[in-house]
Amino acid sequence: MKTYEVRVARSDEKGTPAGVGTFTVALEDRTTVLDALFRIQASQDPSLAFRCACRVGMCGTCAMYINGVPRLACKTQVSRLRSDAVSIAPLPNLPVIKDLVVSLEPFFAQWKRIKPALHSATRESPEPARIPATSPYARHTPTKRDCITCGICYAACGIKSSSSEYLGPAAINKAYLRIMDPRDNAADERMAVIDGERAGVWRCHTQFSCTAACPKKIDLTDTIVRLKRAMLFPSRVKTS
Ligand code: SF4
Repeated sequence: MKTYEVRVARSDEKGTPAGVGTFTVALEDRTTVLDALFRIQASQDPSLAFRCACRVGMCGTCAMYINGVPRLACKTQVSRLRSDAVSIAPLPNLPVIKDLVVSLEPFFAQWKRIKPALHSATRESPEPARIPATSPYARHTPTKRDCITCGICYAACGIKSSSSEYLGPAAINKAYLRIMDPRDNAADERMAVIDGERAGVWRCHTQFSCTAACPKKIDLTDTIVRLKRAMLFPSRVKTS
């Protein structure tokens, strides 16, 4: 058991900043930041607002800014922060609803722009769609399919902080998955969006912040570089 000072950025029901709440709590080494917040809410301040659902790193809803890094609160043990003080704030680049709760509306607005659903050319065909194990889709995308739409890459992105128009890494990654999918028939429309001057992949400065922060270890910077290459050599997109 160790005593921690937990500092939480507070705001009212309109998201207006209301200073920092400081709480002193005794926590076990394996306690997560999410558990610490529950303990504070139960014993010190029931008005503290934060969001969570699965509590095992699968849903992405407890993403927040912990000691200067966007992370999942349920997967962050306080002892791993190597500090007696834990500072918690809402995810950057997203509007605050209250305390640690942000609206993901801007994140999903960008997500919708790239047409995230599969647009199959053979929708009416009775034949099952086959994806050969040797296809570029099968070879290049398995490690990029695990997105839980937590918004952490969006919060970590330095470009996103200065551009509301930029799609952000997660939406671009989703577009890449669809463009590479041999069953899909809307690659041209998606390519037009991600080639956009203000919203598209060319805004990325390859800072790797998204890749470093993603809790599912998706190499988002690699995705963006692959798409930049695809713009230059369109014929190779689904064949190499
Ligand atoms: Fe979260 Fe990673 Fe998906 Fe971004 S790509 S929303 S960081 S899981």
